Amino acid sequence: MRQTGGVFVHDALPMRVVFGAGALDKVAEEVERLGLSRILVLSTPRQGALAARVTTLLGDRAGGTFDGARMHVPVASVVAAEEAVGAAGADGCLAIGGGSTIGLAKALSLRLGLPSVVVPTTYAGSEMTPVWGLTEDGRKRTGRDPVVLPRSVVYDPDLTHALPAAVSGPSGLNAIAHAVEALYAPDGTPVVSAMAERGVHDLAAALPTVVADGADAAARALALQGAWLCGACLGATTMGLHHKLCHALGGMLDLPHAETHAIVLPHVAAYNLPFAPEADTVLRRALATDDVPSALRALAARVGVPAGLRALGVDHADLARVADEVLAAPYRNPRPPTRGDLEAILEAAWRDGP
Ligand code: NAD
Repeated sequence: MRQTGGVFVHDALPMRVVFGAGALDKVAEEVERLGLSRILVLSTPRQGALAARVTTLLGDRAGGTFDGARMHVPVASVVAAEEAVGAAGADGCLAIGGGSTIGLAKALSLRLGLPSVVVPTTYAGSEMTPVWGLTEDGRKRTGRDPVVLPRSVVYDPDLTHALPAAVSGPSGLNAIAHAVEALYAPDGTPVVSAMAERGVHDLAAALPTVVADGADAAARALALQGAWLCGACLGATTMGLHHKLCHALGGMLDLPHAETHAIVLPHVAAYNLPFAPEADTVLRRALATDDVPSALRALAARVGVPAGLRALGVDHADLARVADEVLAAPYRNPRPPTRGDLEAILEAAWRDGP
């Protein structure tokens, strides 16, 4: 992190945000503002009713719906969505849902140049990043391209009331992980640090209430604001060891995305923060603690994150392969890990021990 001393560059991403309870009602205005006239609405099958509601709100700017968004953006689903774009004569799309649906909108922007408006309903934060992913033949390719950034992001916390507690907790910790890594990223800036501190603070304050009472409007709004800020941190910086480990674990062992992040985060924090003192100071403030890794573990336990990778069904024998994968193409990290370090982190994350 370059908060003090040296030269830094802050390259702000162009991002319009409309935020607040009831903001969904603004989607037609957002589409109109962009000069778009035929919108294809994207969702998963599970959120088809929400897509229908948006279609009604769009009125004569609605061009059709495609409810075939799927995890990890399979190319087959993108091709099907492209056909729907053609059939509708769409000049833009509106994605309503989590990272999977937003990922589909990004794929359409990448391949067709189609502009998007996005309405996130989880805390994953993908809407704030220029990172796209496409899966074909069991392999996920990712890249960064500003063309995939949504033109407008409409955050309506009312839409997150339906997000189950078991999804909300891990999803919120997944967002916190973005901010933690941004705080020690080589391309961090004071602006990113400020967003990270506020994002971690908001999510840590809101998540226990969100999990206890999913309809608490104030907590839902605070959590979504935190997720926005943490997502913006991810979009602005380079990921470190935590994200590398989670990508390796998720990709090789087919683990649930948010839970994996939530479990691994305290262990990577314990490893990295002694080598990233400025990040540690910011996180101590954000979490009101003098022991950040313990506070992250306690938060995870409180919001229902499974106890260790073994609780996700990970076979202990697979950890060595994951360490190999991380070592083969390491990400920049404040503390370059040895094989022994990686094994110790994975062991602790597996066991849910210190
Ligand atoms: P998701 O989009 O896969 O959603 C999971 C399920 O929950 C879906 O069926 C969805 O329809 C449903 N759902 C979403 N919001 C809901 C709500 N409010 N109420 C009820 N059900 C709801 O899950 P996710 O965690 O948002 O996204 C994970 C994916 O996003 C991963 O594939 C990850 O790689 C990707 N991601 C990408 C980036 C990036 O920068 N490109 C960043 C973060 C995550």
